[in-house]
Amino acid sequence: MADMEKFDLLDDLIRGRISPTDADDLCSLVLADTSSTVPAYEFMGMSRKEWTACAHGAEFSEVAKWRANGWPNKCFKCDGLIVSDNYGWIATHHDGELQLKHVVCPKPT
Ligand SMILES: [Zn+2]
Repeated sequence: MADMEKFDLLDDLIRGRISPTDADDLCSLVLADTSSTVPAYEFMGMSRKEWTACAHGAEFSEVAKWRANGWPNKCFKCDGLIVSDNYGWIATHHDGELQLKHVVCPKPT
């Protein structure tokens, strides 16, 4: 593990070099390594934003798709604008798809 080199998990997924299961396994390895001096997400070539989505429960393959095709820019609940770089959103599954919604959504539940 000490010899493990930084890699680009999402890019590897996009290019089909690894499977979603490989991605989960690799992530477990990285998270288990306490000797790393860089944050786990950085080690795996992910941005804070991408890592945040994963922390919300997104699959790596889903975030990889967003990296390849662009992130959603609206809230599935109220249809309002979401600028994903600015946070204030939660990545969650809705209608079988990973989508964004406001943390504080103006539309009541
Ligand atoms: Zn909303």
